[in-house]
Amino acid sequence: MTNILYDALFAPHAGRDAPFLHLPDGGIVTYADFLGQAAQIAHVLTQAGLAPGDRLAAQVPKCPQALALYAACVQAGVIFLPLNTGYTVEELRYFVENSGARMLVCDPDRAGALASLAHAADAVLHTLGADGTGTLMADAAGQPDGFDTVPRGRDDLAAFLYTSGTTGRSKGAMLSHDNLLSNAQALTDIWRFTKDDVLLHALPIFHTHGLFVATNTTLAAGGAMIFLPKFDTDRMIEAMPRATAMMGVPTFYTRLLDDARLTRDLTEHMRLFVSGSAPLLAETHERFEARTGHRILERYGMTETNMNTSNPYDGERRPGTVGFPLPGVELKITDPDTDAEVAPGEIGRIEVRGPNVFKGYWQMPEKTAAELRPDGFFITGDLGRLDEDGYVQIVGRDKDLIISGGYNVYPKEIEVVLDAQPGVLESAVIGVPHPDFGETPLALIVPQPGVTPDLDAIAAELRDALARYKHPRDMLIVDELPRNTMGKVQKNVLRETYRARFV
Ligand code: ATP
Ligand code: MG
Repeated sequence: MTNILYDALFAPHAGRDAPFLHLPDGGIVTYADFLGQAAQIAHVLTQAGLAPGDRLAAQVPKCPQALALYAACVQAGVIFLPLNTGYTVEELRYFVENSGARMLVCDPDRAGALASLAHAADAVLHTLGADGTGTLMADAAGQPDGFDTVPRGRDDLAAFLYTSGTTGRSKGAMLSHDNLLSNAQALTDIWRFTKDDVLLHALPIFHTHGLFVATNTTLAAGGAMIFLPKFDTDRMIEAMPRATAMMGVPTFYTRLLDDARLTRDLTEHMRLFVSGSAPLLAETHERFEARTGHRILERYGMTETNMNTSNPYDGERRPGTVGFPLPGVELKITDPDTDAEVAPGEIGRIEVRGPNVFKGYWQMPEKTAAELRPDGFFITGDLGRLDEDGYVQIVGRDKDLIISGGYNVYPKEIEVVLDAQPGVLESAVIGVPHPDFGETPLALIVPQPGVTPDLDAIAAELRDALARYKHPRDMLIVDELPRNTMGKVQKNVLRETYRARFV
């Protein structure tokens, strides 16, 4: 028997001297080094008593060994559960207890604070620091650099990935070997990744974007990554001439655009810029093209499904859309009341089905049943529509929909108008309780630096652009919008802050 994911992503590179990771200090981790290290870690896991199907939780800094730990889990049949490095000790308690992890790997700085938690959960505690030090690699050093890969089938679980927690408590999405592999292969294919690609990697590796979209695609193609610990404009600009591709969240692009060194010359060697995880403003897309000549390719996905749609590599990359369903992925837009597909162009719930769709939320059978239909369609929680050419447009999240006096108000529709006004950097529209209308739209506006937008002029523009029931009841100027580590605006935080505005 085979191991679906290991055999496709890792095993083909055994013994290869080609670079897998280029490190900031100029060092190189070859594929052979990387796989040897992963095998050594796999021995540590099995010797600690971890059996196939057991969970390993890792809250570790972004370093080559953290990726080797992922590879080791796949090879040993252990379910990998990466955790946001921003989580506090109390938050970690939830994830370790909720997942029933048998091993917890953490930064050496945290070992003291986590020891009793690990002990209470009956999990072995190991440490791994940003420089590769700690007990995990110390134990691994004495192990053989070959390991008998544990057989795993398509539906066996490879990872629990917790959602970003943008709309509530994070949920553990159970992802199978085939979920990850099918998506990696689809993306490699449509984005044309080859062994000659060098991906500029500045995303975190505890999230689907940096771990699966970026890393698995590179592995599937056999290419290399310039592996930066985090986004840093100077380092990105310094590395860009050596890269061929970059994957980023929209903030990467706005930060790069803020720097005059981003030019056509700087990006000459690049063939692809991908954006996702949060909406990319059409304006950013246009500015980036004007400055560099590259059209950013926006795609759409989520923890539960990996990637669902992508703008085309060859065809028109349309700003404000996330393109078409990936090969093998079915997507439909449905009416929340009837579950039937809506007429073309109308807004509804985005549902997807395919080999990419997860196996359910860990220990949340009710939530799983509510969102994953028996026929395999997953109700994503996003609202969208298909434009006249079939490009998918995301309108916002189901939970952010405002129902004012019985009318549906889509925040995005108002935000698009606000964002286009002079002096406005960005905006967020939320629904807040209102005595007459049940809910009413409230707009938060972030000005461009040093500018005070004219709210009366903006109100006049809104009156021209939108039906009356969509007009924000009030507009407030704020310094910034609350965001989580993936750069997503936390509207639940805003709703809480402004809950009592009109009641
Ligand atoms: P939670 O489910 O815990 O509330 P989350 O949905 O933010 O958090 P993720 O799985 O990291 O957690 O994010 C997936 C979501 O990100 C999608 O459902 C969608 O709302 C948003 N998203 C991803 N890519 C895009 C994109 N290109 N444009 C707009 N939104 C996007
Ligand atoms: Mg979600």
